[in-house]
Amino acid sequence: MLSYLTRWVSRGAFQALKGTSSRPQLVKTPHLGNQTLAAAPLPFTGGSPGVRQARALDQERLLQIDWDDGSCSLYPFTWLRDNCQCPHCTLQSAQARSLLFTNLDVHTGMDQVQLMDNKVSITWPDQHSSEFDPDWLKKRCFSSEARQALQEELFLNEREYWDSSLQIPTADFEEVLHDDKAALAWLEALRRIGIVYLRGAPAEQGQVARLSQRIGYLRLTFYGHTWQVQDKPMANNVAYTSGELSLHTDYPALHHPPGVQFLHCVCQADQGGESEVVDGFHMAEQLRREDPEAFNILSSLRVDFTDSGADYCDFSVQSKNHIIDVDSEGRVTRINYNNATRDSVLDVPLHQVQPFYSSLTAFVELLSRPENMCTYRMEPGDMVTFDNWRLLHGRKSYLSRGQNSRHLEGAYLDWDEVMSRLRILRKAVRGDS
Ligand SMILES: [Zn+2]
Repeated sequence: MLSYLTRWVSRGAFQALKGTSSRPQLVKTPHLGNQTLAAAPLPFTGGSPGVRQARALDQERLLQIDWDDGSCSLYPFTWLRDNCQCPHCTLQSAQARSLLFTNLDVHTGMDQVQLMDNKVSITWPDQHSSEFDPDWLKKRCFSSEARQALQEELFLNEREYWDSSLQIPTADFEEVLHDDKAALAWLEALRRIGIVYLRGAPAEQGQVARLSQRIGYLRLTFYGHTWQVQDKPMANNVAYTSGELSLHTDYPALHHPPGVQFLHCVCQADQGGESEVVDGFHMAEQLRREDPEAFNILSSLRVDFTDSGADYCDFSVQSKNHIIDVDSEGRVTRINYNNATRDSVLDVPLHQVQPFYSSLTAFVELLSRPENMCTYRMEPGDMVTFDNWRLLHGRKSYLSRGQNSRHLEGAYLDWDEVMSRLRILRKAVRGDS
């Protein structure tokens, strides 16, 4: 069996985002201190549900399906007609809807519904007919539990929080490149934990590009396709010095910062240069509990960020971002914070300036607590892959030797492309859709 290993000691340090029931668990192996970077079980476990009965509720214009397991699902007529899977309504080769919206009767009735070969067969008033697979229908049930399960399967939004006791999940670089199971385990851990360490890459430039080809393509920015973190004269970025970098996310000066970051160590400093990471989602939730006012300010007030210079080409970037982004349900979705590119322009009324600074102080104080911060030191050939929307990262200052000194090569990707590869790998490895 393959050995994508992780040292994963302190499970007790993790906390679930919310008390959700189907949290994935890493599987322990009997080896001392080692654990398999196991693929997480899917929350939705398909199976083939039988249909006991299907009937049209004409008054409500709903199709009711009674399943063999005693449960029941309701599907609006309009939605069923809109999603007819026949070759006229769906372009099979693209799995895309070819039915024009203007040709959809959003007030359609239903002439007949019957069960044929364990398929739900519907005849519409214009005598068009549709056939639906029970598995397909069951997965798309409109109950809140079913919708939640399917959304989790699609987006894997459940996270495991961590603190300084994190043993960073680790996999073998070449195995991830060549083995689908290893690649899937890597991406699932990257999503769930937010950071995965890859060992055994050649200690030469070009490896972050190789790994991004495993996903699809990397994200070009003004710093180039890939970028070299080195001590440079007339640096166009604070990262390109030998100084300390306080905890930050990369590129909040963009309105859509890169979702995923790869950093590959080509050469390490003799002294200093240790890396630090903090779980930004965990910290934001902690701030919400400990200082709700600070959380409200940082999640509602938009801060100006700026970045200008020349690299891939000349640039002058401006953005307005919340330091803590939350979605419509109040869940933290992204941290946007880099003190170096936070603009002197601050577009808030006078009376909100001091409260903003006080709130940011509370957040930064949380981030900097030793019990929250995980520290590691990269050696040549090591690569760290992490969620740039979630983690804040930094480094200690180091002693620069000019040429032949510390050298990291980095690349960005976006979550859409990474999740796309994850879904395809999941289908290849487990055969589910
Ligand atoms: Zn059709």
